[in-house]
Amino acid sequence: MILGKTLESWYATHPLIRDLVECQETSWFNPGTAPAADALQDVGLTADDVADASARLARFAPYIARVFPETAGSGGMIESDIRPLRALQQALCQQYGVELNGTMWLKTDSHLPISGSIKARGGIYEVLKHAEDVALAGGLLRAGDDYAGLDSEQARALFSGRKIAVGSTGNLGLSIGIMGSTLGFQVIVHMSADARQWKKDKLRSHGVTVVEHEHTSDYSVAVAEGRRQADADPTCHFIDDENSTNLFLGYAVAAERLKAQLASAGVVVDNEHPLFVYLPCGVGGGPGGVAFGLKLAFGDAVHCVFAEPTHSPCMLLGVYTGLHDEVSVQDFGIDNVTAADGLAVGRASGFVGKAMQRLLDGYYTVSDESLYRLLAVMEQSEGVCLEPSALAGVPGIMRVLGEQQGYRARAGLSAQSLAQATHLVWATGGSMVPPDEMKAYLAKGRALLET
Ligand SMILES: *Cc1c(COP(=O)(O)O)cnc(C)c1O
Repeated sequence: MILGKTLESWYATHPLIRDLVECQETSWFNPGTAPAADALQDVGLTADDVADASARLARFAPYIARVFPETAGSGGMIESDIRPLRALQQALCQQYGVELNGTMWLKTDSHLPISGSIKARGGIYEVLKHAEDVALAGGLLRAGDDYAGLDSEQARALFSGRKIAVGSTGNLGLSIGIMGSTLGFQVIVHMSADARQWKKDKLRSHGVTVVEHEHTSDYSVAVAEGRRQADADPTCHFIDDENSTNLFLGYAVAAERLKAQLASAGVVVDNEHPLFVYLPCGVGGGPGGVAFGLKLAFGDAVHCVFAEPTHSPCMLLGVYTGLHDEVSVQDFGIDNVTAADGLAVGRASGFVGKAMQRLLDGYYTVSDESLYRLLAVMEQSEGVCLEPSALAGVPGIMRVLGEQQGYRARAGLSAQSLAQATHLVWATGGSMVPPDEMKAYLAKGRALLET
């Protein structure tokens, strides 16, 4: 029995669960979406909250520019470029024998400064928000101060009496560890046993305490353990990847910046020129926050689709069954083992799943083999090196254009509008992968392409 029903009766009421259980690539387009003007009310956060987060990042920009010189060129703003994917789009058409209308673009969060992944948005934002709270309460900052002053012995002395704890499969830990330790906090990162050695080494080199949970590859257990320890210590701020609205808002700021980037690249987004955005999903905070910002920025002209590994389809399972965080992939015997760092999550955020379900057009799964193949194709065609998880958004265009679930008609997507659509692949990580590991990824992908 699985949550009160046999597997056969789950298959009868929810036929796509069979694909999930068999770890077959699949797609689901939610028939229960609603116009943004209505569904944005579900979230419990507003455009003002995103503007507040954006203003906070602007206040910290002089400090960031000072302590991370690689951000000086952008004035301390942590942002990534967009770039067209003409060669990749052509390669996909050839390789899969399909015609792909519209224009593909890449959002290179893989190359965000400081921590080289999408976590440089939410993770760093929440650390800065906490630092501001502590500094204001401690009399170290007053409204209107130049935050560059936080690069001082006095500030580090104040922060060094405080701890920040987080549970992470890797990239969130890197972002929070590097930012937190730079400010002067004591940072404790709880990691599951499968976390990459180079990420642990890098964190330790920044003076971060890495707690390895050797007996579990389950990230949720590492998070729970981190939460338990932090709860017992009043000087410790726990960053809750499953429920934090601060993380979510840090991600959401991406959208207004993307809007400006698309405009300056001459890319039109409106109902006749729809924008599709494909977001790799782990627990859901990153893609959920970005999608929330996108719906605020573009309304119904943007269509957000989440991508998950075939072995960790937690958000698809949670939203499709309506059980959200009451169900895990392990409940259905799915092993949650994948090469896609950051996406190996068995139970989705209940907050994100519920808040965003009427705003997300669809969800699909991708096998590790597909990720490796696409990794090699991306490098061959565009010269861009990404980590496996960051490729999950690439097949999105084929899933949308090939779907047979009535989604395109339901969403009012005419052939004309699809011909002038933009398909943006959100590349979530990769630039910090050590060269040897990247070589191994590429070799694996190339070998698979030859089979
Ligand atoms: C964390 C992460 C994601 C997904 O973010 P969630 O908030 O966990 O859904 C995607 N890609 C990479 C590389 C990540 O590290």
